[in-house]
Amino acid sequence: MRLEKSKLSNLGLLEKQRIRFSVPESDWNDWHWQLRNRLRSLEDLERYFHLTGDEVEGVKLALQGRTLPLGVTPYFASLMDPIDPGCPLRRQGIPTSKEGMVGSSDMLDPLAEEADSPVPHLVHRYPDRVLLLVTNNCPMFCRYCTRRRIVGQTNEVPLPELEPAYNYIRKHRRIRDVLISGGDPLTMSTERLEEIVRRIREISHVEIIRVGTRAPVTLPMRVDDELVSMLKRYHPIWMSLHFTHPNEITPEVEAACSKLADAGIPLGSQTVLLKGINDSPLTMKKLMQRLLRIRVRPYYLYQCDLAQGISHFRTPIRKGIEIIESLRGFTSGYAVPTYVIDAPGGGGKIPVSPNYLLMHEHGRVLLRNYKGYIYEYRER
Ligand SMILES: *Cc1c(COP(=O)(O)O)cnc(C)c1O
Repeated sequence: MRLEKSKLSNLGLLEKQRIRFSVPESDWNDWHWQLRNRLRSLEDLERYFHLTGDEVEGVKLALQGRTLPLGVTPYFASLMDPIDPGCPLRRQGIPTSKEGMVGSSDMLDPLAEEADSPVPHLVHRYPDRVLLLVTNNCPMFCRYCTRRRIVGQTNEVPLPELEPAYNYIRKHRRIRDVLISGGDPLTMSTERLEEIVRRIREISHVEIIRVGTRAPVTLPMRVDDELVSMLKRYHPIWMSLHFTHPNEITPEVEAACSKLADAGIPLGSQTVLLKGINDSPLTMKKLMQRLLRIRVRPYYLYQCDLAQGISHFRTPIRKGIEIIESLRGFTSGYAVPTYVIDAPGGGGKIPVSPNYLLMHEHGRVLLRNYKGYIYEYRER
């Protein structure tokens, strides 16, 4: 069934969902149903979207295995505009032929994670913390994924394959922070995730465990009571979420974040700066302010990295600086993330910021504030 765009936009979000996916509420709210019914083929998409030729080409590339696989949850698809290919949520989930272009700076493993991996599934780059990649599956395959070289093979890492990683963490007493990521760890069953969290929690020098996930955004029904009460037993647990656009913040997402925050899990958000999706000061301000309302603290804003086939999403670095400059001072400090470039070749996250320090000489510092007024500070 196709509806005119004008008619659709007059309806509330939930009504839209019921129209476009006429499934019982109990199915819709079941995260297993959402995963089982992901849109994974051209026919799936064409049932709900007027695709452009460019999108059809992109879908074909994905289905041929030449780019990141295709996968969108019905929930997230229901938020996309069925007609407008420029819809910022649609651009995140529906590929275009541009993914077939390899830019001259593109790299397969832009963050050189393989080189910093002492044992399988573990990346150890910084002195006191590690990244543990526990699955390659995600609820939705974001078209700008940095780990597109491995993401989308739907296999979960067999649990015994994680033993060397646990041993490594146990042997290296400097590791006080373990970041569980992937793929998306919340595509796994709660039982399986608990097994991993429990094994890490057993290591006495690990102080905090972080879960990196976009499921609260692309599959908010995943955040159920069972998950939350499990995580609560292993505190301190922190969560890094991943929001891209203010339209992602729906009542369902708000409910998911409330559950997590009420369970005492501090929530941060990582956002990738993406051309045509969120590369405007206005959109970013809206996103950051809405995040604070749902108790999510903007953590990082990432310059889009050099992964292969995503050059059409990259903005100049000047754009990121301009966005940070438009936030700092003009809105709550909590709404200002740190803008970073994850350096190609494994240099890690390097902060890039507007320059407020104009001169620093002989104990005299000249500063400019957010409005551009100049102030002097004397060190002695
Ligand atoms: C981002 C990242 C971390 C965590 O960095 P924080 O700045 O502490 O959030 C750890 N390891 C790797 C390899 C990373 O890319």
